[in-house]
Amino acid sequence: ATPMSVMVGVGKAAEAGVLIRNGEALQTASKITAMILDKTGTITEGSPKVTDVILANESDEKTILQLAASLESGSEHPLAQAIVESAMEQEIELLKIDAFNAITGYGVEATCNGKSLLFGNSKLMKMKEIELSDFTTKAQALAKEAKTPMYFAVDGQLAAIIAVADPMKSDSLCAIKRLQANGIRVIMLTGDNKETASAIAKKAQITEFFADVLPEDKANKVRELQQQGEIVGMTGDGINDAPALALADVGFAIGTGTDVAIESADITLMRGSLHGLADAIAVSKATLRNIK
Ligand code: ADP
Ligand code: MG
Repeated sequence: ATPMSVMVGVGKAAEAGVLIRNGEALQTASKITAMILDKTGTITEGSPKVTDVILANESDEKTILQLAASLESGSEHPLAQAIVESAMEQEIELLKIDAFNAITGYGVEATCNGKSLLFGNSKLMKMKEIELSDFTTKAQALAKEAKTPMYFAVDGQLAAIIAVADPMKSDSLCAIKRLQANGIRVIMLTGDNKETASAIAKKAQITEFFADVLPEDKANKVRELQQQGEIVGMTGDGINDAPALALADVGFAIGTGTDVAIESADITLMRGSLHGLADAIAVSKATLRNIK
């Protein structure tokens, strides 16, 4: 395309809230054959709320929430924010923590008043050899409701399951259908567990999805699709999406996402809506038509 038609295209896209950082991305967008969508914060709102606290011993809910929220105050993960907010709403005071450590894709750990705290997914509990017994069944039931269950352990013993729900953006389904109507293969990737991923994928009418994906494997998935001959678009909002956004043929960042994601992407969806994807592709097609 001529520099002039690209400029016009960039301007048109901007009117739709789609910020294009480079002209080449605008031209490649119309050729995308596969679109990878991150789940949390991309398909969903990304502001999870605590829905369930299931105690695993005789301690009371407030004490558990106090410890869990104190631990999570060290994390920037949206799941952590949900736990901290829930404690704030109940006017629970946060305690000082030490030796905080985030294990990306697994969860967090720290000590508090001499207690060792551990909070995260089943992989983390397995790694730290925490006995879950029949609580995995309870967690799975929550996950089937599209909630994300997390395990909280104190001094090596399971203390509670805390679940959060992160609803789908109201227009995600419609936006995904637009992509599929363009013949694009839509794939969801998430670090979340398989049951929750499956429940959200079903709501979003996405048949192809991968769960329990570690951050480094998101980029590997992009490469794998490229090796299959796909022109790959990647859409995400998190730090853990950044390598995949950079590697994709066109990277799309959610405007409300992390700075790292925005810097790694070619295009930013300022309105946060996935409609920006089909809009960008439409502008791209029009731009290429103008040069002929
Ligand atoms: P996503 O792709 O959904 O953003 P992440 O790789 O960030 O996923 O996280 C994967 C999983 O690891 C989460 O679903 C959660 O179970 C666990 N996890 C990550 N960070 C935290 C945290 N701060 N607190 C509790 N669990 C966490
Ligand atoms: Mg995300």
